[in-house]
This record gives sequence, structure tokens and C-alpha cells, in this order.
Amino acid sequence: MTKYIKNVRLLDEQGELVNATVTIAEGRIKEIGGEQPDSAEIIDGNGHLLTPGFVDVHVHLREPGFEHKETIATGTASAAKGGFTTICAMPNTKPVPDSIENLQLINSLIEQSAKVRVLPYGSLTIAQSGDARTDLAALKASGAVAFSDDGVGVQLAATMYEQMQTAAKLDMVVVAHCEDNSLIYDGVMHEGKRNKELGLPGIPSICESVQIARDVLLAEAAGARYHVCHVSTKESVRAVRDAKAAGIRVTAEVCPHHLLLEEMDIPSDDANWKMNPPLRAADDKDSLHAALLDGTIDCIATDHAPHTVEEKCCGMVGAPFGIVGFETAFPLLYTQYVETGKWTLKQLVDWMTVKPAQIFDLPYGTVEVGAAADLVLIDLNKEQTINPEEFATKGRNTPFTGWKAKGWPVLTMVEGNIVYEEEAK
Ligand SMILES: [Zn+2]
Repeated sequence: MTKYIKNVRLLDEQGELVNATVTIAEGRIKEIGGEQPDSAEIIDGNGHLLTPGFVDVHVHLREPGFEHKETIATGTASAAKGGFTTICAMPNTKPVPDSIENLQLINSLIEQSAKVRVLPYGSLTIAQSGDARTDLAALKASGAVAFSDDGVGVQLAATMYEQMQTAAKLDMVVVAHCEDNSLIYDGVMHEGKRNKELGLPGIPSICESVQIARDVLLAEAAGARYHVCHVSTKESVRAVRDAKAAGIRVTAEVCPHHLLLEEMDIPSDDANWKMNPPLRAADDKDSLHAALLDGTIDCIATDHAPHTVEEKCCGMVGAPFGIVGFETAFPLLYTQYVETGKWTLKQLVDWMTVKPAQIFDLPYGTVEVGAAADLVLIDLNKEQTINPEEFATKGRNTPFTGWKAKGWPVLTMVEGNIVYEEEAK
């Protein structure tokens, strides 16, 4: 059935909002700005913003293995509600997608219950042990979007180097959670000022930055495409900036929480503020903003990481790392940085759509004739207070409870099928 979305505003190349209509047929955008077809399902956009569905290259869906935290069904419902239409699922599941069989199992679970497009990572090492290397060619053939051991850093340079060489031959991206285990010291938050005030063990910045510095040199030697997960420190930014200047094929992402929060915002020993990498110092946060604006950091990714209330109830020590991210990412960033004039709307939308898609050669993240009709309709004037009880994710672990934000998705579609629609009031 043909769909006709009328009365929407699209961002043009210059970032101006223009009135438009969009005609969708067979899951693809057939026409922009055309007349209403004779027979079509009409969707009234009510003058709202229509953007490409968001692309999130760093998410944790927890299934298989940790369904008490999240399932593919609840995780993708949460993604759809947040406006995300393509998400790349990290491999810290049980089993880990480290073989053809395990990746096929995950693919079949995705096929059964995903509401949005889910592209799974294949792991770099067997069971993410950092030890025996996986067969990257086989994982690519089984549909891995890229390779990563996210959740843990690859400790041995030789393991990383050999997998980068193989990935380079396959023209696939190696994606890294950078963390040198010998420098973690059982930390639970940034090693700085606030952890001392709270009496909690710290994670020094070098824990992340030294491994990025190592990896960009390995990537250069291997000729590999290398993507850094959740950059959080100013030294990491410098390492990525210098590597780009040297012509190394490196890209990087930043998470909304690292742009929005810093260590001194942490109110107490509350595990809803515990994530890895941790919230860093104010000057780190400033450097992340500068890096996004100058292109050192390429895109925004949520690192959506649901956990149960019980796991997050009792202080930082002992609680798992991570916070949920899908449903609050766009409204928070829009409200804090676009409404205030620090970013343009086009910058924010690009960082959440076409930029991440380009890193992985994904044919998504644009609104143009012939593209998949992955779209999100956003009410920029709708203001709402963040209440975790209203989340579609199983996770309630967010530090943003009570924040007011504008710019909420009201309708999300994947290949022309509506996967989220705001409930009528
Ligand atoms: Zn990570």
C-alpha cells in the first residue's frame, strides 16, 4: 500500500526547514514534494519535523543470555520510540557472536522479534576473552556489520594487530572499546575530584587514551579502518585528532551522557550514574564538544545499556556499568544544544543519521528518492519530563530522571512500516 505523508518539514542541504510531502511505495521513498496519489494511506505530519530514522552504531540488547535486563523485542521497541531505525548490537551476549552458529542464532532471534533494523557485531576474539581470534571472514559472511569486543578492551597488541590486518583485507571496520585493564584499578567513576569526595575508587583517563594511542598506530600499520567507541577524555580526543591529521583511517563516536554530564554532576553514590567510560571532568566534556564541531568525532551513539533495578539499587561498587539511552538521546541533545543555539538542527540530525551510516557504508540515514523509508516524525514543541516508568526499555537506569526536554518522536517507520506511534491523548 502506498503511503503519503503530508504536511511535514524537511531539513534541506543548507539546514533550512522546508514544507514537504513524502510518498512511500514498497518500503522506499518514491517521491518528495509530490501530489497526493489517488489511492494511498494518508499520514498527517501536523507540520512536524521529518528526519531520517536515527542510526545507532553502539547498543546493547542483552538477548540472548540476559533477557532479565532487556530483550530484542523491548530493546527495539525502545529504539523505535526514540526514533532509531537502524541499530548495531554489541556482542556481549551469551553466547557471544564469535562463530557462524552463534551469529546465526542471534540473526534468527532478530528476525523473530526486532521492531527496527538490527545489525549485529561479530566479536574479535572467542567469547570476548581477548585470547583466541575469531574467523572474521566467516563472521562477515554471516552478516556481521563490523567487528568488536565492546565491553572489554583487547589487551594484547598482537591480537588487535592481527585482527586489524584481516579486517583490512575484508574491508571491514574494527570497533574498539578502549580500556587498558592494568589501569582500571577496580574504579567505578572518573579518577578526579568527585570520586574522592564520595570515597569511591577512580578510573584514570589514561585507561582509555593509551589504548586509543596504541590502536591508531596499529591501524596505520595494518591499513585498517578503525572506529573508537564512546570517546570520553581530552587526551583521547587529541589521539584521534592527531591520527586523523596523519591520514590514519580512524573514526570516533561520543555518547549523549558524556556531552551532557560531568563528574561533578554526580549527586551521590548512585549507580544510575555509573557507566564505562565514566563521566569525566568539565574540560574533558568541553573537548568532546569541540571535537564534534571540528569533525574529530564523527557521530553520536547512545551505548544503550539496560540493567535491572536490583542490579543498580545499591551504590556504585558492585553495580554493573551502563545506562539506557534510546528514548532520551534526541530530546536531551536537541533541548540542551540546538534550542540554545550551540548546534544547528542539521548538525545534530547528521551526527545521528548520515554520519554513523557513512562510517559503516550503510545505505541508511538519508531522506531521498529511492532510499529505504526509514523515517521519524518529531514534535519539536512537545515538552515532557523524563520519567523512567514510561520507558519502553526494561531498563530504568538513567541519570536524567526529572529532566525536562523538547523534541519528542511521535512516529517512527522502518521501510514504510510504522513501528512506533505516540498514543493519542
Ligand atoms: Zn564500551
